[in-house]
Amino acid sequence: MSTDSGVRVGVLALQGDVREHLRALTECGASARAVRRPVELEQVDALVVPGGESTTISKLAVEFDLLEPIRKRISAGMPVYGSCAGMIMLAEEILDGRADQRAFAGIDMAVRRNAFGRQVDSFEAPVTIDGLGDPPFHAVFIRAPWVERVGDDVEVLGRVAAGAATGRIVAVRQGNLLATAFHPELTGDRRVHQLFVEMAAAAD
Ligand code: GLN
Repeated sequence: MSTDSGVRVGVLALQGDVREHLRALTECGASARAVRRPVELEQVDALVVPGGESTTISKLAVEFDLLEPIRKRISAGMPVYGSCAGMIMLAEEILDGRADQRAFAGIDMAVRRNAFGRQVDSFEAPVTIDGLGDPPFHAVFIRAPWVERVGDDVEVLGRVAAGAATGRIVAVRQGNLLATAFHPELTGDRRVHQLFVEMAAAAD
């Protein structure tokens, strides 16, 4: 399914699985492009923060002068979707983070880094996302965070539905900000990207 909205969606390209998100967004009808510099940020309507390593993305965001501009755009209502490390970057509170780790913040939640890693580094599990229908997502978790606290304004969209981590929150939305602990860009299931492109088009 494609919306052909042509909405300009950037993928923060400091580190992480940028190409997979660009492909997924393009397939959903967005005009997708990499964002590495403040001028490129100014040219997009919405932003994806990919999976990777949040401490590295944090450090590079400061070095590339993107931390404050992205925080400002978030305050001004820019839609942002964060996957895995990107979810961590959108959290108001990071548990098990590094002391000098910074976030773009915006979602009133506490996420714990590498939360599942105490049991197993990577795994796949079914996750039902509210509003995205059946079948459940085949969710891929790679040294993933989970959400330990959400504020009143945060909608919980998905929880792990099987295995040792059953019930853990792994998908949330607060206004124009969307985050998943898993990596939908690594599977062919485009429903999360489709939702985000629709959010971006609606905000445009
Ligand atoms: N463990 C990583 C972090 O803390 C996230 C892993 C991922 O994005 N796949 O940033």
